[in-house]
This record gives sequence, C-alpha cells and structure tokens, in this order.
Amino acid sequence: MKIIISDIPDEGLIQEADQPLLINDNAKPDIAHVFIKAVRFGKRVLVEGLVKISATLKCSRCLTEFPRPFDLAFKEEYLPSEDISRDKDHELTGGEMDVSFYSNDELDISELLKEQVLLAAPMKPLCRDDCRGLCPACGEDLNKGACDCRKEEIDPRLASLEKFKELLKERKE
Ligand SMILES: [Zn+2]
Ligand SMILES: [Zn+2]
Repeated sequence: MKIIISDIPDEGLIQEADQPLLINDNAKPDIAHVFIKAVRFGKRVLVEGLVKISATLKCSRCLTEFPRPFDLAFKEEYLPSEDISRDKDHELTGGEMDVSFYSNDELDISELLKEQVLLAAPMKPLCRDDCRGLCPACGEDLNKGACDCRKEEIDPRLASLEKFKELLKERKE
C-alpha cells in the first residue's frame, strides 16, 4: 500500500483498501482490510490507521495452520530518508523508535502493516488453549486421538489410581 507524499492534500488523505499481507513463511498471503489517514506537516508525515485481518498462524504445538482475527490500530511518523543520510552526525535515539523513513516522494506502509500483525500475534501461537500437540515419539497429532506409544507409557501412579477408581465403583454397586 503506497502513498504519494505530494498527493496528500492539506486536510489529509484518507484511504481504504484490501491489502494482501504475507505473514511469516505462509504459502499464501492473507487479505487485510486497511483504513488509513495520512497528514503532512512539511516533510513529516503522520500515518494513523486500522488494520483488520484474519491471519493464518501455525500452532506451535501441533503445527496446524489456523485463522486468528486481528483488529489493530496504529500510528507511525515518517521522515524523508534523504535528510538523515545528509546529516552524518545524526544519531538515532530512543525517542525516535516509532519513526520510519520514506524516499522519493513515496511511502510504502506494507511493511508497517505486517509488523503490526506480527507484534500482536503471540510468540507461540496455539490452535486452542488445550492443544495436545504432537507425540514426541511418533509425531502423531494427539488432538486426533492417542497414538500407540502412549499406551505403553502409562504412569504407574496413574495406573493404580485407575484401579482405585474401579474399586470404588465396585463398592458402590
Ligand atoms: Zn495445536
Ligand atoms: Zn506416539
């Protein structure tokens, strides 16, 4: 999604568009619905916007891809990169963390949109809170049922608990 700086009118530029975004190493991009307002203050450009997307994430336990909706608001300041390279003594300080740069009268917010989604996405996404993941021995997806190796690995303490439950049941009957 590109903005031509000299096209921004005094009252600001409002744009709404569907923007394909490639999240992580997904095979196909997800479509983001983007709404932005860009305002120019001399060479500085302030971009405020909203991005709505159903992003495809990969579960960190079972590796299944699943959709996760995001509804994000962002604000970013842009400065011309030409000014920075000309000023050799210019050092980036902590206060300029949220500043990005544009060059040649053109500002591309695609990277910013991607960044917003990645920042909002969990470090270790889960398809569901109680995802059982894959069996470390055979690689079977345990959400689809227990694999064969599980039966041999029953904790002896749990086994005796099972017996205890059976005993209780018998006593009730
Ligand atoms: Zn999962
Ligand atoms: Zn297994």
